Amino acid sequence: MEDCIFCKIVKKEIPAEMLQETPEAVIIKDIHPSAPVHYLAILKKHIPSIKDVGHKDEALLGHLIHEAKEGAKRLGLSGYKLVFNVGREGGQVIDHIHLHILGGWK
Ligand code: AMP
Ligand code: ZN
Repeated sequence: MEDCIFCKIVKKEIPAEMLQETPEAVIIKDIHPSAPVHYLAILKKHIPSIKDVGHKDEALLGHLIHEAKEGAKRLGLSGYKLVFNVGREGGQVIDHIHLHILGGWK
């Protein structure tokens, strides 16, 4: 998607602090952290929100959760929250599926 900031990050058209990358997903540091440690696992495929996921995307979503777990391990988090904000009322601002990895509380 042309005007999607996360599509641009995935294509490296705008910079981001990258933690890890696979052919299907990236994990980047959130620029406005809401937790001591805040990263975003982002699918490379542009799907606007969880509301738009179809059966064909199930494996991709499984991959995203798996990558988030690997990222959390790499970050040394022993416990954390994984959060999808869904739709404006759910706090979603960027319409490209991403999974928040939140942690670092004592
Ligand atoms: P959401 O409210 O679920 O759509 O979350 C969007 C998240 O993306 C917020 O936590 C923002 O701080 C984060 N964000 C926005 N722009 C960027 C960017 N260029 N690089 C990294 N994180 C970003
Ligand atoms: Zn996008």
